[in-house]
Amino acid sequence: MTEFGLIKKFFAEVGAVRSDVELSIGDDCALIRPPAEQLLAITTDTLVAGVHFLPDVSAFDLGYKSVAVNLSDLAAMGAEPAWITLALTLANINEAWLAEFSRGMATLLKPYNLQLIGGDTTQGPLTITIQAHGFVPSSSVLKRANAQPGDKIYVTGTLGDAGAGLRIIKQMLKLPEAIMEPLLLRLHRPTPRVKEGIALRQVASSAIDISDGLIADLTHILTSSRVGAHLDVETLPISPTLNQAVDRATALQLALTAGDDYELCFTVPPSHETKLSRLPVECTCIGYIEREPGLRLYSNSGKSYPLPGKLGYQHFTN
Ligand code: ADP
Ligand code: MG
Repeated sequence: MTEFGLIKKFFAEVGAVRSDVELSIGDDCALIRPPAEQLLAITTDTLVAGVHFLPDVSAFDLGYKSVAVNLSDLAAMGAEPAWITLALTLANINEAWLAEFSRGMATLLKPYNLQLIGGDTTQGPLTITIQAHGFVPSSSVLKRANAQPGDKIYVTGTLGDAGAGLRIIKQMLKLPEAIMEPLLLRLHRPTPRVKEGIALRQVASSAIDISDGLIADLTHILTSSRVGAHLDVETLPISPTLNQAVDRATALQLALTAGDDYELCFTVPPSHETKLSRLPVECTCIGYIEREPGLRLYSNSGKSYPLPGKLGYQHFTN
């Protein structure tokens, strides 16, 4: 099978077919008609074998996750997903693997009405780069930079499950099958909070997706907004499964520092609290923004909670 045969067979029809795509796969560039009066949101994420996933991960999960992490970035800006490109580096052509990879991608592309409009295929160590494009009205973009003192801090869903999943595959955590399964699913098939991101355009002053860990990612909001935060550690949303899997201190540690959950962390000014409660966004208040820079953690008793040693994943430092 040639490079072009591969593209035709596994990628030409993997996603949605959109009417705003003038020219898709098959020419030197794709041509799209972005909606008038909206901003184009563009993001890229790369997954590298051995860094972002272990070589034995399933091709389906890899296809799914490489789209999910990009959708999560669009969600964090309040953008509506539309088009993606795929740069794929493969050691060799394995048709069964490619079929599963493409099926994993399709699982997200179709329901989100995302079209795969182009890419590049090369030979080398397995690496997947997706660029995702979406659009968002310029008046309601969610940035990291606009959190204000007095805003409440929220997170969607629950935190720490994916981190526990990672410990399981690294064989640092042994659990019964029934507890392991849902944690691994959160690691391999994160739900990008796209509909939440779009709904939050109406109420959030800032937002970020949690890919590197709550402390690491909330700190990005604080730095960009030049503010600080009070975080009530005991209020962090922990799933019943994670509560069953590890002790309380470990659950909180994972929720604070483990990445890969792809939940949204966002801030809401007091004037928009009521509106937030009416939105279809499952979320938990975990603290509030303060003028004084820095992130301060507190336990239930109001005592300061020690910052965990390792604060999130950073390339080139670990
Ligand atoms: P060029 O050499 O002009 O860069 P290529 O030969 O790399 O073009 O690709 C041919 C066409 O197939 C282009 O439209 C490109 O966008 C598309 N394409 C290549 N690889 C992929 C891929 N993995 N997924 C989707 N489209 C791809
Ligand atoms: Mg090329």
